[in-house]
Amino acid sequence: MDEIFHITESQQFSRNDLDELFNQADAMETLVKHRGVTDTLKDKVMVVLFYQPSTRTRLSFETAMSRLGGSYVSTENAMEFSSHAKGESLEDTIQTVANYGDVIILRYHKEGGAKRAARVSPVPVINAGDGPGQHPTQSLLDMYTIRREFGSFEGLNITLVGDLKNGRTVHSLAYMLAKYPIGKICLVAPPSISMPQGLLDYLEKHGIDYNQSDSLAAVAPHADVVYSTRLQKEYFDDPREFEAVQGKYVLSQDIVDTMREKSIILHPLPRNEEIPYVVDHDPRARYFPQVRNGLYMRMALLNKVFGR
Ligand code: ASP
Repeated sequence: MDEIFHITESQQFSRNDLDELFNQADAMETLVKHRGVTDTLKDKVMVVLFYQPSTRTRLSFETAMSRLGGSYVSTENAMEFSSHAKGESLEDTIQTVANYGDVIILRYHKEGGAKRAARVSPVPVINAGDGPGQHPTQSLLDMYTIRREFGSFEGLNITLVGDLKNGRTVHSLAYMLAKYPIGKICLVAPPSISMPQGLLDYLEKHGIDYNQSDSLAAVAPHADVVYSTRLQKEYFDDPREFEAVQGKYVLSQDIVDTMREKSIILHPLPRNEEIPYVVDHDPRARYFPQVRNGLYMRMALLNKVFGR
């Protein structure tokens, strides 16, 4: 029997896997635009188990499954409305819901949740965010968006800015970028919420040129991609620490005006004050097309998980 295909972290994807997913996502776009739905997964049921809030990830997975002809059951607030509230362990919940569906989409509030779930699950578990850990399906759609915009990753100069300590999307994205011959990664964050050392070691080990800066204005003119993120308020223990970094690294229109003409601005969303609404009118703002790419990529991924 094939090994169960869990998706827990970005490092597990090979370049071949990624290239195949990008091509499949292109095919899903054509499918959605021309036919709307198909029936590839009509025999499959997806269980959606979310312990933290979500707009895009949950709804795009559910839409993806619907457009592939499958069905789903969903707990959008498992903290309150699952037996978690009665003290049930994640492992017991997983071994329960695995009886109902063929794949589990899990968002958990603590790092390592997806790996814990994968250890006990007889059906594939897909990590839809595990606390401040990783969010590999977000980075799949981020990578897909970058590839659509530039055609390849070669030589690209990518700036990641915001809460690099607690932001799981930047962790997953950095791990995935490290698979390609990109130009450079610039990490812009206040020292108290900078990129974890383990990830920096990984970049170094994989020969990725990176630097850390505290000036978005200084690096933005040289970037092909500015990937902005919000402060992850929910992970700050001390409100004073949050206030000390709030409002730093706003991508103002003045900074955007210094960016290369062919550069792009991405954000996993939701945003707070880090990208003012006025920037939405700039042709470099690509965060809403990025959202749409998430649907195509999650369709491609679900098909791949089931070998379809
Ligand atoms: N939606 C993304 C996540 O779940 C980004 C964020 O919440 O800031 O990680």
